[in-house]
Amino acid sequence: MATVAVVGGGVTGLVTAIGCARAGHRVIVLERGPVPNPASTSADQHRALRVLRPDDLDGTLRMADARRRWLELESVLRTSIFRPVGVVTSATPDELERALDTARQAGLSATAVAPKTLPSVLFPAGTGGVLDPAAGVLLADRFLRAAAEWLAAHPAVVLRPGCAVTGIGDHEVILADGITAEADVVLVAAGPWTADLTGPPVVLHRQTMVYLRPPPHLARWWASAPGVGRIGADRRAWLLPPGGGTLLKISSDAVCREVATTADPEHGAWAARLLAEPILADAAGYAVVAVRDCHYATDPGTGGPVLSRIRPSVWSRSACGGSGFGTAPLVAQEILGAALEVSA
Ligand SMILES: Cc1cc2nc3c(=O)[nH]c(=O)nc-3n(C[C@H](O)[C@H](O)[C@H](O)COP(=O)(O)OP(=O)(O)OC[C@H]3O[C@@H](n4cnc5c(N)ncnc54)[C@H](O)[C@@H]3O)c2cc1C
Repeated sequence: MATVAVVGGGVTGLVTAIGCARAGHRVIVLERGPVPNPASTSADQHRALRVLRPDDLDGTLRMADARRRWLELESVLRTSIFRPVGVVTSATPDELERALDTARQAGLSATAVAPKTLPSVLFPAGTGGVLDPAAGVLLADRFLRAAAEWLAAHPAVVLRPGCAVTGIGDHEVILADGITAEADVVLVAAGPWTADLTGPPVVLHRQTMVYLRPPPHLARWWASAPGVGRIGADRRAWLLPPGGGTLLKISSDAVCREVATTADPEHGAWAARLLAEPILADAAGYAVVAVRDCHYATDPGTGGPVLSRIRPSVWSRSACGGSGFGTAPLVAQEILGAALEVSA
């Protein structure tokens, strides 16, 4: 049996803690705020789980594995956290062929969809859609609450909310009060704040999201609608459908910018820019309920996520990228592998 210390109570930390506790390890979760923390990147109504990665068979197979692990978590927590509504991505005829080809190789039943089947969504000229039926929406806040409850009730888990970590050593975590917690394996999963504690350096991004309520006459249609990606003026926008107690959410890489710090979010002009994007038909009928800025970090070289082993006993989720929520069970598997190695 190993002792695993997890720094950060976002999705990465909580999924890892559940996996390690289920495998019989002792786990301590150190979170500077409450668990779950509304200020974490993970705290939101929903996050997309995309499985099909056109032209990337390995990535697609990895995401299919992540999806299987999310379904397993759903049964462990006995809470519905995944809405299997699929995700439609706009595609030119050439992109469609390539996406269908990757899906065939991965054994996924992706299909072409005509834009007229999604009349509330505006598709860019010259594109149709490809439906990834294995994809869907993770109910993020619901998962975080259920995970925190499950962990709080588990005898091998110590949840330490209000416990800021100030330093990381090999086999040890240094707390703000100077006390040191020892562990066989340490995962630093402090979201966009991870780089403050460990390397390597990352690029910090801020992105604005707008939450909308559809007009009443469309509520039923939206209740079973899929997520939609690669829409908007430059095909960088996406939407997550309402359902399971969530609102409709829109955003775009066009309103994502590099920032130096997570402090002082400012979203007014960015929200206006997002609302001007051609994403929804009859957009004026949708009520704006909320606007929010959220941060994530990426690897400066690849622009993607990174999990690195920075010391023999320490792993750092230094960049959590745009698919960081959906891939959390894959990080958990890595850490579980390290814990098994220690206890073998
Ligand atoms: C706009 C936007 C849209 C996104 N959409 C998607 C999507 O559709 N699908 C998807 O898969 N991913 C998406 N992501 C990415 C995903 O949300 C993140 O990668 C993921 O939530 C990161 O989770 P985490 O647990 O690693 O970090 P976080 O959720 O940020 O958790 C880190 C925790 O560490 C705590 N912490 C920080 N410093 C310390 C410290 N010193 N001591 C103790 N605790 C500390 C924080 O308080 C926080 O609770 C999106 C991100 C953004 C910004």
